[in-house]
Amino acid sequence: MIEYKNEHEIGLMREAGLVVGRTLEKLKAAVAPGVSTADLDAIAEESIRGEGAIPSFKGYRGFPACICTSINSEIVHGIPSPKAVVQEGDVISIDCGAIVEGYHGDAAVTVPVGQVKPELAELLRVTEESLWHGIAAARLGGRLIDISRAIEDYVRSQPHPLGGSWGIVEEYVGHGIGTQMHQDPQVYNYVGRRMAKGPELVRGLALAVEPMVNLGGRETRVLDDEWTVVTRDGAASAHFEHTFTLTEAGPWVLTALDGGAARLSAMGALRTSA
Ligand code: MG
Ligand code: MG
Repeated sequence: MIEYKNEHEIGLMREAGLVVGRTLEKLKAAVAPGVSTADLDAIAEESIRGEGAIPSFKGYRGFPACICTSINSEIVHGIPSPKAVVQEGDVISIDCGAIVEGYHGDAAVTVPVGQVKPELAELLRVTEESLWHGIAAARLGGRLIDISRAIEDYVRSQPHPLGGSWGIVEEYVGHGIGTQMHQDPQVYNYVGRRMAKGPELVRGLALAVEPMVNLGGRETRVLDDEWTVVTRDGAASAHFEHTFTLTEAGPWVLTALDGGAARLSAMGALRTSA
């Protein structure tokens, strides 16, 4: 069942989104060679609780930490550990969620550690850009599948730096969000055969969109820790996510500090009142 939020509830989601956005900024600034993912988790916990919010992930189905940290060929759901230390040239995906007065925000970024190979930089660029294309395609009166199509079309339109093809992960998808982190509807990052158009995009709908793109094949595997999802072929993966809702002017990105205004207006996705 889809939960439609009123203005007050969207306001609480914005507060949660800002906690997530500010926490991710601190984490991005902290990523450097020699830093462990446990160090990052400690920063996240202090940041989230310091703002009077609750980490969404800690205890979620038994997950032991406040963020998911996924390095290189890890796609999502990596568990922070003092033994997982990032090195120059790595890429690390950080996924973060926070709750304010019962309402969730959820966002993720993939960050280069120092200087990374050009193909990894391109993987990050394409994945992040596909997220923004997905959000920019959402408009009141549109359909959920517009988002999925925009993400896939963007990724497929981008030349692969090694002459291969991008792997768009299919097993893990975006979602509705509100009083729970994961709600209906699922937001696919591709358009499957005979996929329904999905619900109409209306006021009060809040979605977390989160493309995961692999430098190699799209196939995934879960490690023995029963959390960490990795690419089957060992190629690197990137993950970007934002939580957003729709206004008359266009998408409002609740987990972006500026609400997404800079990116979306550059893409022509915001209606400015004349
Ligand atoms: Mg997330
Ligand atoms: Mg999510």
